[in-house]
Amino acid sequence: MRSRADVVIIGGGVTGVSIAFSLASSGLRDVLLLERQSLASGGTGHSVGVLRQLYPTLETTRRSARPSTSTTRAMATRPP
Ligand SMILES: Cc1cc2nc3c(=O)[nH]c(=O)nc-3n(C[C@H](O)[C@H](O)[C@H](O)COP(=O)(O)OP(=O)(O)OC[C@H]3O[C@@H](n4cnc5c(N)ncnc54)[C@H](O)[C@@H]3O)c2cc1C
Repeated sequence: MRSRADVVIIGGGVTGVSIAFSLASSGLRDVLLLERQSLASGGTGHSVGVLRQLYPTLETTRRSARPSTSTTRAMATRPP
């Protein structure tokens, strides 16, 4: 395993992977993600990738559901 990197992220759940994705998308190449078990083995995997569409109010639905849908679509179609 590598002993150094510009950025080290601990945890391969949605938080860590999203940070790695954002950094790589902005051009950072020396990003190391460390996961002690397997990707999505924590809460992320247990939530089975639910893409939530309903929130308590129309405003929170507008602000949360639409961006998360387009972000997920972009992650599914963009090369790493
Ligand atoms: C059934 C269910 C439904 C849910 N529904 C929703 C919802 O509708 N909306 C919502 O916002 N949230 C929801 N959640 C919560 C959401 O899934 C979690 O908040 C989110 O997945 C947490 O992501 P995370 O990356 O922070 O943590 P995790 O997914 O837990 O990832 C942490 C990772 O870090 C690793 N790790 C920990 N310590 C170390 C270490 N020392 N070294 C290396 N690796 C380490 C773990 O193995 C794990 O893989 C739901 C959760 C569940 C279980």
